Amino acid sequence: MISPDAPSHSQPLVDWLFLDLNSYFASVEQQLNPALRGRPVAVVPVDSDTTCAIAASHEAKKYGIKTGTNIGEARRRCPHLITVMAGHDRYVEFHHDIIKEVERHFPVHQICSIDEMACKLDAPRRPLEVATALAKRIKQGLREHIGECITCSIGLAPNRFLAKVASDMQKPDGLVALLQEDLPGRLLDLELRDLCGIGRRMEPRLHACGIRTMADLWAADRETLHRAWGGVGGDRFWHGLHGGITEDDVPPAHRTIGHSHVLAPEFRTPPAAGIVARRLLLKAASRLRRMEYRASHLHLSIRLEDGPRCEAQARFDEGSDSIALARVLADLWLRVMKQARWQRVKKVSVTLFGLVAEAWPRQLELFDLSGDSAPKQQRELLSRVMDDINQKYGRDSVVIGFTPDAVRTFSGTKIAFTRIPDREEFKE
Ligand SMILES: [Mg+2]
Repeated sequence: MISPDAPSHSQPLVDWLFLDLNSYFASVEQQLNPALRGRPVAVVPVDSDTTCAIAASHEAKKYGIKTGTNIGEARRRCPHLITVMAGHDRYVEFHHDIIKEVERHFPVHQICSIDEMACKLDAPRRPLEVATALAKRIKQGLREHIGECITCSIGLAPNRFLAKVASDMQKPDGLVALLQEDLPGRLLDLELRDLCGIGRRMEPRLHACGIRTMADLWAADRETLHRAWGGVGGDRFWHGLHGGITEDDVPPAHRTIGHSHVLAPEFRTPPAAGIVARRLLLKAASRLRRMEYRASHLHLSIRLEDGPRCEAQARFDEGSDSIALARVLADLWLRVMKQARWQRVKKVSVTLFGLVAEAWPRQLELFDLSGDSAPKQQRELLSRVMDDINQKYGRDSVVIGFTPDAVRTFSGTKIAFTRIPDREEFKE
C-alpha cells in the first residue's frame, strides 16, 4: 500500500518533452484541404512520376509509402494515391502557429527541425504525472487551435536524446515515457537503426564491434562506442542512451533569449517605446526563468523611424530576476535614447545572452560577503511568484511598473509570431 505521506521523490521524474509532428507536410495539406482527409496523400517537390515523396499521409504510409519513396513506385503500390505539390510557405506558417500554441503551455527550448521541438521541463513539471498532463494539453491545444489533422507524438525522458527516441516509439498521436529507473526497458524492442545517429553507414561499424542488437548496444561500454564512432560522438551517444546529460541538454554559450517588436505609430514616442522595451524584457526574463537559466548580458537595440539603428549592451552578475534586469534595461534605455537624440522609435529589440543553467554553481555568490544575497534571492523568488500568477491568471496580471492596456494588447501573440527561428535550426 502506498502511504499518502510517501516522500515525493518516489515519484518518477522526467526532464525533457520532445514533440514530433506526425506526417507533418501531408497533415498540413489535409488540414487545408478537407478533400484530402482520410486519403493517401504524398507531398512532392515537382509534378513528375520520377520524383520522390517528401512526405506521406498516415493513409499512404499503410501502403509502405514514406519520405523518399519514388512516386512511380508509390502509384504502383497505391493507384489512388493523391500527389500534392509542396508549399513550404504553408509549412513554415503552420510551424510558427504550432510553436505559438505549444508555448501557450510551456516554453520551447529547442526547435530541432520544422516538425520537431524539445522542451526542458522545469521542476514543477518533472513528475511524470504532471508532464503527462502537460503533453496531453499540448496535443489537445494543437487539435483545437491549429487543426484536427495536426497530431503529434510526444516523448518524455531524462534527456533530450531519449525523449526523441520515445517520441518515435508510437505513431501517430503517441505519448511514451522512458524513465531512467526502467532503462533499458522498451529500448530493447527497437532495432539499432531506429535510433537517431545510427544510419546506413554506422550500422556496419557497430556490427564490426560485435553490436547487432539493442541489448548488445545497451551492454556496450563507452570505450567501445568511442571506437565504433571513431571519436567523442560515441561517448556522447553512450551518455545519451543511458539517460545522462549530453551537450544537447545544456544551452550552448551563444544561445540567446530575445524579443523584438515593430511599434504601431501611436507607440513610437520615446516614453511609449520605453514601456514596450520593458514589456519585451519582462517577457524574455520570464522565459529565462522557465528554462531555468540565468543571463549575464543584456543587449538593447532600437531602429528609428528614419532608419538608423542605435544599440547598447551591459554585462552584470548572472541573474534572472525581473527587477534587477529592469534596472539594467533602464540604464541602457537612457544610453540608447541619448544616441538617438530622443527621436521616434520604429522597432525595439531586447536580447538576453551569456546564459547559464541555474543548476550550475553561481560563482559570484561564493565571494558575496556584502550580505546582499538574501534580497537577491528574494527578488528571484518574487519574479517566480509573478510568473506563476501570470501563468494562472493570464499574461500581464502582474507586471513591474506600468503597462497601459493599449500597450498590453501587442505583447502577446504577435511577438511570439515574429520570433522566427534561425535558418540553421531547421537544419539541425
Ligand atoms: Mg515528424
